[in-house]
Amino acid sequence: MTNPTDRNAALAARDLKHIWHPCTQMHDHETIPLLPIVRGEGAWLIDAEGRRYLDGISSWWTNLFGHANPRIAAALAAQAQTLEHVIFAGFTHPPAIELAEELVRITPPGLDKVFFADNGSAAIEVALKMSFHYWLNQGHGGKTRFIALTGSYHGETLGALSVSDVALYRKTYAPLLLTPFLAPSPDAWEGEPGETPAQVATRRLEELRALLERHAHETCAVIVEPLVQCAGGMRMYHPDYLAGLRRLCDEYAVHFIADEIAVGFGRTGTMFACEQAGVSPDFMCLSKGLTGGTLPLSAVLTTQHVYEAFYAEYAAGKAFLHSHSYTGNPLACSAALATLAIFRDEPVLERNRALAAHLARRLEPLREHPHVAEVRQTGMIAAVELVADKATRRPFAAEDRRGLRVYLHGLQHGALLRPLGNVVYFMPPYVASASELDLLVEVATAGIERAVAD
Ligand SMILES: *Cc1c(COP(=O)(O)O)cnc(C)c1O
Repeated sequence: MTNPTDRNAALAARDLKHIWHPCTQMHDHETIPLLPIVRGEGAWLIDAEGRRYLDGISSWWTNLFGHANPRIAAALAAQAQTLEHVIFAGFTHPPAIELAEELVRITPPGLDKVFFADNGSAAIEVALKMSFHYWLNQGHGGKTRFIALTGSYHGETLGALSVSDVALYRKTYAPLLLTPFLAPSPDAWEGEPGETPAQVATRRLEELRALLERHAHETCAVIVEPLVQCAGGMRMYHPDYLAGLRRLCDEYAVHFIADEIAVGFGRTGTMFACEQAGVSPDFMCLSKGLTGGTLPLSAVLTTQHVYEAFYAEYAAGKAFLHSHSYTGNPLACSAALATLAIFRDEPVLERNRALAAHLARRLEPLREHPHVAEVRQTGMIAAVELVADKATRRPFAAEDRRGLRVYLHGLQHGALLRPLGNVVYFMPPYVASASELDLLVEVATAGIERAVAD
């Protein structure tokens, strides 16, 4: 890859002259090649030299129905030739109206109002501000704090980072952030030996109750990633926690914010993860898969009740104040509508159930591996937890970057896998075939073998 005539290397060199990439120590690119992708096709990414990589992580969990999906592309092209954008204050447009109708139709009952933003973190900012402002408008200005779960990730703008608890992203910027109350995550991996996931959930709810008992009077909302804490290492928990959380939020008069940015749109086996507990949150944040992975867009859904707390004569000063230049962008709304149409027209969730079962069978042998402490799965998210010592679950040292070795092995063998620390995970596009999943598992298994050697 260092041959200067090589097309990938030439593009990478040009990139590195001016571009600063996210979530990257740029120095790494002195030894790790930056990969220029020029085309996508189904679950595959194709580089400048025609090499193909199976997108095992849906390009940061955004892509649902494949790259360059023809149906979404056609909707986008038509919209681009009709109306690309219009200010969303004082004006509206059909794609936003239809999208709001569709989101209200498919989300859990009671979520009847839609506020658009343009990425996941921005949706979190909106939900936090809206919850705080609701309580203020109701005469409870003393509610200024939030409760977040340990191991949570809600984005990296300052507000979203404030309610996140992944040290890698948070530690450095901590002096700039709000300080949430942290409730222990119901993450089943953190359970006591012999404890079932449901028992962990029950115990964690008691701890949450104790926290609410002391702090509910100053707390606006509890924010959680339903069922799977994704960036925190694909940590999974029992739906009972969400049902109990709903009851506690009602009992203690705090909002329940469901961050379904990563888990929404069929990822966990149901359209939304909250459905598995039969609950409706007060706020639901959506993004990532919303446009099928084509354009940035996010939405915060809330209740008529919350909306009404802001609805008053102008002079009352109760209006919600938050705006982005590209709020409700028509192109992004069209991409979202085309994506949701695929869910309507095709048996996506059934197909996913079969694919998820297939993936589970293929991953089964890894459970026996001496450096695999757990293989866990929720729908179309599967994760393999690598450890230095299986009996004690002692982790590999972070500096060893075992996950990076899996990543590099993957690229050499035609698969994009991007482990989170020592957690190798699979979050494929829904259009991946059973044999494509087989390839992902084969490459990952060989990559794990290499990564744990020495
Ligand atoms: C990715 C993610 C976000 C942030 O979304 P961005 O679009 O990356 O800002 C928030 N919450 C969860 C659960 C996520 O996975």
